[in-house]
Amino acid sequence: MPRRFAILVTGGAGFIGSHACKALHQAGYLPVTVDNLTTGHADAVKWGPLVHADVRNAAALKDAIKNHGIKAVMHFAASAYVGESMARPAFYYDNNAGGMISLINACLDTGVDKVVFSSSCATYGSPEGGPIREDTPQAPINPYGRSKLMCEEMLHDCSAAHGLRFAALRYFNAAGADPEGDLSERHDPETHLLPLALQATSGRRGPLQVFGTDYPTRDGSCERDYIHVSDLARGHVLAADYLAEGGASTALNLGSGTGHTIFEVLETIRSVTGKTVPHDLAPRRAGDPPSLTADPRLAQQTLGFRTERSRLDQIIRDAAPSFGLAAAREDRHGRHAAE
Ligand code: UDP
Repeated sequence: MPRRFAILVTGGAGFIGSHACKALHQAGYLPVTVDNLTTGHADAVKWGPLVHADVRNAAALKDAIKNHGIKAVMHFAASAYVGESMARPAFYYDNNAGGMISLINACLDTGVDKVVFSSSCATYGSPEGGPIREDTPQAPINPYGRSKLMCEEMLHDCSAAHGLRFAALRYFNAAGADPEGDLSERHDPETHLLPLALQATSGRRGPLQVFGTDYPTRDGSCERDYIHVSDLARGHVLAADYLAEGGASTALNLGSGTGHTIFEVLETIRSVTGKTVPHDLAPRRAGDPPSLTADPRLAQQTLGFRTERSRLDQIIRDAAPSFGLAAAREDRHGRHAAE
């Protein structure tokens, strides 16, 4: 396949960034990772060079852009834990908003005019009334969400002033792992529901704490829209294609369009692995909205993006091996049978 062009991937050693690098490589782009390796893993950088630098170091970004003939950037490098952002807001504003301004300055100084940005459904806050459309007012309820909204606003202003074009991709809950086993989901410390639940199931940690059982949802637990990380990665490639073809700046949801409560997630893990998830009921976690589900239609219309592996049981089947769990076989009716 002819090489399209080199793309700078900040945070390319992290969970979503490394899956995006694989998808970029498969689509004929050269992903050049910049990562400070505080939460990323050097051995996840397999599809292009690694520049070991912090995204807040604009001089290092400019060098990387010039040295590798970069034509576009994908910006993943950020801190991404809602709970931690409540405890350490200044750190979140420094790393996330500071990283964005450093990257924008590096782009403006070098003439790079295309940015795919890792935004979040956390920018919407806690909207009521079913699936969330992109024109839902953004009113984040935690510093993580506010830092991502600041980044979108910076991009918006620089798009108007300087002709920079961007795609802000507002992800819902990224989960799962590369189905070919090239990459796994690794977080340290782990705070996300699916890996924690799978670790509890495999006995690698104690029971899962279910944070809050008095939310206004079908069973009292929080509802989220889980999207397979490989689908997310493909969405980024489509966004890069879109900007390369001259597409206008845009903000798009990337989600499956289906919400699952925590108890539904635990039940799906049981049906896929044949094992019950040990869990305890716990108080609400600060900063958590009750329900977040995407309206995914705008990304379908704009990018032709549709999820392919984001059925919850498929996400769990792909993630299970990373946690030493076998997934049950599926019969032709989609029912699971123990191996
Ligand atoms: N959650 C939970 N126990 C955990 C971790 C998470 O009950 O040990 C809940 C969390 O409160 C939220 C949902 O699972 O309602 C998804 O949380 P996660 O941290 O995975 O993603 P977020 O939605 O915060 O980005």
